Amino acid sequence: MTHHATSPRPASEPAPTLELGGITIDWLRGGNNQLDGGTMFGAVPKLLWNKRYPADSDNYIELLNHPLLIRTPEANLLIDTGLGNKLSKKQEKIFRVTRPWEVIEDLHRFGLGREDIDYVLFSHGDFDHAGGVVMVNPSGDLELTYPRARHLMQRREWEDISAPNSRAAHTYFPVNFEGLEASGLLELVDGEAEVVPGVTLRHSGGHTRGHQVVMIEGDQASALHMGDLFPTHHHANPLWIMAYDNFPLRVIEEKEALFGECLRKNCWLTFYHDFQMRACRLGANQEVVETFG
Ligand SMILES: [Zn+2]
Repeated sequence: MTHHATSPRPASEPAPTLELGGITIDWLRGGNNQLDGGTMFGAVPKLLWNKRYPADSDNYIELLNHPLLIRTPEANLLIDTGLGNKLSKKQEKIFRVTRPWEVIEDLHRFGLGREDIDYVLFSHGDFDHAGGVVMVNPSGDLELTYPRARHLMQRREWEDISAPNSRAAHTYFPVNFEGLEASGLLELVDGEAEVVPGVTLRHSGGHTRGHQVVMIEGDQASALHMGDLFPTHHHANPLWIMAYDNFPLRVIEEKEALFGECLRKNCWLTFYHDFQMRACRLGANQEVVETFG
């Protein structure tokens, strides 16, 4: 893959740990890829977004796909799973994969194996988030990457994965869910649900119909993971949304409401796709006032 000097890649360095007090968050390297910059900014003119986000000569921008490892006294949880290790060569070319999936290696750095993950929390089912649910093992067979984990998803998301419309069929790959339902490890959530003390799921919709966000509350600080409602800090303006959003007005409403809530709680906003930082705090005018990682 071509790599352009305009795209720094701090992802090669392990990110620091975000401490919330009794709960920690770490970012695992779930693979990098590149997308047309225009698709990530919807109706925003390139003249505006390109001042903030570098694009290469083909108009592509660099994105991370970094699952979050949340460790609480009760459990080890992952939010999303990265690109996985089963994209075909053709898919790797189409999605311009520039760095492979290294989640298992990264878990080892924390002394964790695949069987130590208790929960996998899906923001939604798109392949860049659910690609690591099922992996190719060393014998070449497919298996669940986290064989003990309860996999939690909004019921609406599972309904759409099971019967995708013609647009969603391009981003929900059946292979990413192979064997999950039969394993008994898939659990469907309606609306809000506390997973373990301090970690709560909430339905948001917007990007996909069943998209969910995760509130993580420690003793000293809290963090909100908005998934693809807030893919990078360059999307802080509620109107800067992706062309991939299926329900754009819902994305804008959710961003406004969640940013307002986060301002009151002074919480971190954590990123899955941002290649320049792992989390930030926003001020009253959606300006970045503090960054992490
Ligand atoms: Zn995404």
